[in-house]
Amino acid sequence: MAVERLRQEAFELQSEQRASKATVAAGARAVDVPGLMQADPGTRARTMSALQRGAGNAAISRALRPTLARTLGAEQADHIAEEVHDGVEGWGTDEDQIYSAMAPVTAADLPQLSGVYRGKFDADLVEDLRDDLDEDAIQANIAALRRSGPDATAYELQEAMEGLGTDEGRIYRALSGVGDAELPAIEAAYTARTGNNLRADLEDELNTEEFRRLPVYQAIGLDAVAQQVHDAVEGMGTDENAIYGALAGRTQEAIDQIAAAYLRMYGTFMIDDLIDDLNEDEMARLATLSPAFAPEGAAGADSGAPTAVAVQLRDAMEGIGTNEAAVCAALSNRSPADIVAIKAAYLALTGRELEVDLRDDLSGDDLQRALAQLGMAQTITETDTELGGLMFGNFDFSFSGGAVTVTARLKFEFRDDVPVDERDPFKTRFLNAARTTWEHPPFGLHGEGACPTPDVPVEIQVLEDDANPHKVVDVTNDERREHVIIEVNVSKHTTDKTIAHEFGHVLGLCDEYDGGFENLMFWHENRADDPTGIMNNGTEYRARYFESLRQRVQAAAPPGCVYHVVRTR
Ligand SMILES: [Zn+2]
Repeated sequence: MAVERLRQEAFELQSEQRASKATVAAGARAVDVPGLMQADPGTRARTMSALQRGAGNAAISRALRPTLARTLGAEQADHIAEEVHDGVEGWGTDEDQIYSAMAPVTAADLPQLSGVYRGKFDADLVEDLRDDLDEDAIQANIAALRRSGPDATAYELQEAMEGLGTDEGRIYRALSGVGDAELPAIEAAYTARTGNNLRADLEDELNTEEFRRLPVYQAIGLDAVAQQVHDAVEGMGTDENAIYGALAGRTQEAIDQIAAAYLRMYGTFMIDDLIDDLNEDEMARLATLSPAFAPEGAAGADSGAPTAVAVQLRDAMEGIGTNEAAVCAALSNRSPADIVAIKAAYLALTGRELEVDLRDDLSGDDLQRALAQLGMAQTITETDTELGGLMFGNFDFSFSGGAVTVTARLKFEFRDDVPVDERDPFKTRFLNAARTTWEHPPFGLHGEGACPTPDVPVEIQVLEDDANPHKVVDVTNDERREHVIIEVNVSKHTTDKTIAHEFGHVLGLCDEYDGGFENLMFWHENRADDPTGIMNNGTEYRARYFESLRQRVQAAAPPGCVYHVVRTR
């Protein structure tokens, strides 16, 4: 057996991958805001444009924006220091005076301003502010002290895992939209905050299945096959059929890539683990299934490859109970041409259509995944969702034809005091405001690896339907505070911006502003550091708003296919 060669190839491939990963990490590490502040303007501009080309994400550019701002004039800095000091001094705190004084200050201006403040008052500016204002108020109102970029994400992750229990939803939201390019900077920021390794903490706090649902740590392409082989050797007893299925009929090149991924992910050689776990007869069988495991110099088994896979599929489905892991591994990351050959071999072997047997033996997400592995477009439908405690997040979800469509049906109910002639115009205005914001959001899903549909647009339909509504819109004449509990409660004076926010609740999104005592309620997921999001007090979209849709598509995606929420325009 060409064990030495398998090890060598695995090692070489893994080293190459390391090298390319390291480049990304170095690029992301360069987001060193204090360091950049000291650089000359030319270097700053070059570094920033290189980063945007390389990492290309809004979070990084947001983190860097302050470094490009002009510094404060001496007189201005002096005045701001006076105003702030006056605001924090004595009885009570004049929040408004502090906020307006600090309004023009960016994070990049802080060292200068702190120096002026210390010179005048022999005190620390940031300490004085933190003594007098609570952290949420600071995050919401003082841009210079606001968490941003990778550090904001690291903070969310830290909070989600701190103390008793873990807030899984908060972890998923924090990492929503994060890809390989952004991860190193977030991991570094997390270590800076906690002294811990992010991945290790996540693996500690989440069970294996939950951890593997984090898109940025999910196995892409052939990495998924390496994971399937590892699962098969790691579990209670060895699942030989899954090993055979995963490796049968793979080309030499594919086996090399799987072995390299295995070494990179688990730190051990796949061939060594296989020799440990399989007896000699089983290793001999593996050699007949895949040419890579055949003895040196022996003829490859390429011509029989599809049959080898078909045999594994038949064995996995035969008898009582189905070995889902083995079916999944056998079909994992096969090319369209491979799939055609495997289906033909299965028909020749069993006299039955593979698809028919899969439908007989599998159900739910397992079946959807297997059909997706055959290259069939996935179809997921869910009607009348309940995302938030039977109160909000009510719509129909469909993933079909490679696109996500959300449908929310509304019924308008006007209180008697709303003049009749104002009702239709309000309806039109409400529907327009909700549609303009949500119908074609500038975010969608992008799948990496073995995805039948790599680019998945998201469309959100806002319909009026009196007969069968998801939500009733209750409209009053008098101004009132808008809210969504069982109904969408608004008044005819509600602004378009607020309508867009309230409709976010229909989509299952929580309030992100600092709501005082209301923060305790389950519809709050505060992001005081992010006042410009739609679910806070602004109008901007966030990747996390689409996380529940991504999770629905991902649940039935084949292994090796990983969906991220991405900005599409
Ligand atoms: Zn709200």
